[in-house]
Amino acid sequence: MTDTIFGKIVRKEIPADIVYEDDLCLAFRDIAPQAPTHILVIPKKSLSSLADAQESDRDLLGHLLLTANQIAQQEGLSQGYRTVVNTGAEAGQTVFHLHVHVLGGRPMEWPPG
Ligand code: AMP
Repeated sequence: MTDTIFGKIVRKEIPADIVYEDDLCLAFRDIAPQAPTHILVIPKKSLSSLADAQESDRDLLGHLLLTANQIAQQEGLSQGYRTVVNTGAEAGQTVFHLHVHVLGGRPMEWPPG
């Protein structure tokens, strides 16, 4: 895949407000937050989108979701939170490095726009 701004964040070439990191993933605050808490959880491995995930990524995908929940607890989102994975341009994906949005701290509406 081509490199993205998130690849640069993984390699610490550009700064980010990192809230969690382990061997497999990194989580940092979104630069344009859409809720009082808005964090992105990304794999360190290059993976363009969920559409490009393989069977071999099963454990990694589970890890991203469990990490999203861990971060939500850490951030005190006890009233609930929303996870979003935009997949492809029509869905609103703008950075082609897989990421899980974790949004919380305000009531959410449904359906999304
Ligand atoms: P998506 O539209 O689902 O691809 O989400 C991409 C998200 O990345 C958007 O919410 C952007 O605000 C966020 N974003 C883009 N560049 C950065 C950056 N350098 N640091 C943190 N978040 C970023």
